Amino acid sequence: MTSTHTEIPLTRLDNADPALTEELLAVVGDLASRSAFIGGPEVDAFDREFADYCGTAHAVGLSSGTEALALALRALGVGPGDEVIVPANSFIATAEAVTLVGAQPRFVDVDPDTALMTAAHLAAAIGPNTRCVMPVHLYGRTLDLDPIVEVARAAGLFVVEDACQAHGAFLGERRAGSIGHAAAFSFYPAKNLGAWGDAGAMVTNDEQIADTVRLLRSHGERPRYHHRMPGTTARLDAIQAAVLRVKLPRLEAANAGRRRAAAALTKALSGGPVRTPAPATDGGDHVFHQYVVTTPARDALREHLAAHGVASAIHYPVPIHLTQAYAAQGEGPGSLPVAERLAKQSCTLPMWPTMEDHVIERVAEVVHDFQALDEAA
Ligand SMILES: *Cc1c(COP(=O)(O)O)cnc(C)c1O
Repeated sequence: MTSTHTEIPLTRLDNADPALTEELLAVVGDLASRSAFIGGPEVDAFDREFADYCGTAHAVGLSSGTEALALALRALGVGPGDEVIVPANSFIATAEAVTLVGAQPRFVDVDPDTALMTAAHLAAAIGPNTRCVMPVHLYGRTLDLDPIVEVARAAGLFVVEDACQAHGAFLGERRAGSIGHAAAFSFYPAKNLGAWGDAGAMVTNDEQIADTVRLLRSHGERPRYHHRMPGTTARLDAIQAAVLRVKLPRLEAANAGRRRAAAALTKALSGGPVRTPAPATDGGDHVFHQYVVTTPARDALREHLAAHGVASAIHYPVPIHLTQAYAAQGEGPGSLPVAERLAKQSCTLPMWPTMEDHVIERVAEVVHDFQALDEAA
C-alpha cells in the first residue's frame, strides 16, 4: 500500500509554534511600521549577542552563510592563485565561497565513521599554493579541530570553520566557530538557528578581520559615501536580526532537544537495518542539524519510508567534486571514495527539537519493518 501523503515531516519550522510565531510577527511588525529595514540597533545588538553566544570577540551579521564564508576569505586576502582545501562531503556553498573570491577549491575525502575531514586528509592535500582550509562541522557534528589547526599552523594556512550546521555545538568548553581565524554561520530557515529568509554571520576573534568584513558587507563605506574598498551588498536585514534575537535565547534548549531526540532515535533503531550516527567523541558534540543514517539499500529504504508517510532526504546526493559545477576542478569518480560512497548510502531521517516520543517510535518502527521486508525477500 502506498500513500503520497507525508505524515511525519523532515523537520518543523517556526510556524509549528504559534506562540513563537506571534512573538516574531510582533517584532517584524514593529520594524515594518517604522520602515526600519537596513542596519540600526537590531543588527548591532544581534552582532553583540551572537558573538557573546559563540564566545568570540566579534560577529558580523550578513545576508547568508555563503557570503560569510566568502567575505571571511576576502578579509584574509585569499584570492586568485590561492588554493583552499574543502571536504567533498558538504553543501556546495563551501566550495562556492572559494570560487567567489577567485581561488581554487581542492577537495579532500572524509572519515567513514564521522563523515568529516581530518588532520590527515588536510596534511596529505597541502601544496605550494594552499593558503587556507575550510573544515565543515557537518550535520552539527564537531570536527576534531585542534589537530587540524596544528597542521594548518605548521603549514602557515588560515582556518575558516564552516559552522553553518553547528550553531552552539561544543568543543570542550569552546563553541564551534570560535577556534579558527574566522567562521561562518548560516541562518537559512531550517538551520538550528533559522531566520525568516536568508541570513548569516561571520565570527572571529581578530579585530582586523571583523572590521574588514563590516566594511565589505556594505560597499566598503565608512562614513556615508566614503568608500574605502570595493565591497558588496551583504548586510543582515534588520527584520532578520530581530527574528534571530528572539530565537537565540532558545537555541540552547533547541539543541538539547535535538540531542535528546537523536539519542532516543538511535536507541530505537538499534539492531535495525541502518547504521546510526556514531556518538560524539570525547570533548566533541553533535547538535543534529541532520540525523543521517547509512545503508547500501538507501534508495529502497527511502521508497519504503515515503510509502509509510515518513519524510526523508539525502545530504548530499552528489559529492561536490562530482557535481557539474565542479567536475572540472576535481579528480573524477573514484578519487574520493568515502565521500562517493556516503553520497550513495546516506539517508536523512526526520529531526526537530521537540520531536515527540511517539513520532520517534513510529520512524524507528517503519525502518525496522524495512528489515523485515528485506529478510522475507
Ligand atoms: C547552509 C550551508 C551553507 C550556506 O549557507 P546559506 O545561508 O544557505 O548561504 C554553507 N555551508 C554549509 C555546510 C551549509 O549547510
